[in-house]
Amino acid sequence: MIVVDDLHSHSTASDGVLTPEALVARAAQRGVTHLALTDHDTVDGLARARVAAAHHGLALVDGVELSTRWQGRDLHIVGLGIEPGHPALAAGLAHLQRLREARAVRMDESLRRRRIVGVLAQARALAGAGQVTRSHFARVLQQRGYGRSLDQVFRHFLRRGKPGYARVEWPDMADAVGWITSAGGVAVLAHPFSYGLTRSWLRRIGSAFVEAGGGAVEVCTATTPANTVSAAAALARRYDMAASRGSDFHDPSLPWIDLGRMPALPQDLRPVWALLPTRAD
Ligand code: MN
Ligand code: MN
Ligand code: MN
Repeated sequence: MIVVDDLHSHSTASDGVLTPEALVARAAQRGVTHLALTDHDTVDGLARARVAAAHHGLALVDGVELSTRWQGRDLHIVGLGIEPGHPALAAGLAHLQRLREARAVRMDESLRRRRIVGVLAQARALAGAGQVTRSHFARVLQQRGYGRSLDQVFRHFLRRGKPGYARVEWPDMADAVGWITSAGGVAVLAHPFSYGLTRSWLRRIGSAFVEAGGGAVEVCTATTPANTVSAAAALARRYDMAASRGSDFHDPSLPWIDLGRMPALPQDLRPVWALLPTRAD
């Protein structure tokens, strides 16, 4: 069997644009055989994605992407092959949801001080049953004409030091890794080169991550250039971690990021999908 894996994607349960059903359908249409839905700090989309995956004959990996902190830096940790309802993970996710809710309120207050009023209410309407994320704030601000692109809105309003920014004390990286491994999952250091860190800092993180029980590093995303793939592969080899591959797909209107579209993993690395139980449907 030829495996086409994509182990990092988002749905409307967090900041993705497609519903879990539409995401799975798109993955199947694009030839993905193993898909992980990894919404930010929630597993709410997994049940619906599982039904759709059974319909399309695609292996769904239960996943999540946790917001964490390590030595003052924000890091994203993907959990793959988790048991979604595991109590330790559920408690961690409940904590993250409270942090996110409090952040949304502070962002709204901060924007109100700049006379930009009612953004949270509109962002909630946009998010529907899903959680409100910074992307929903960005979409509302863009609709109101505060930027030509979401990227521009982020740069002018939602980044550190900007009017709509609110800092969050995310849980410690090691705790988040513990929630994932307790729930039977493999913890993956997501997009290691997106944090603007030097090689030596990444080595320190790699070491602390493995110490905490981390099992893999994301070597390829849809936007990883070849030299970055090599550097991430070196990190995997150095700490004997498995390697993951995931597009980090959010939005079909951004054509350069699509499900299943990524460089191949270097041949000598252990692919993380081989470590995951594929639950029978
Ligand atoms: Mn996102
Ligand atoms: Mn991320
Ligand atoms: Mn992501």
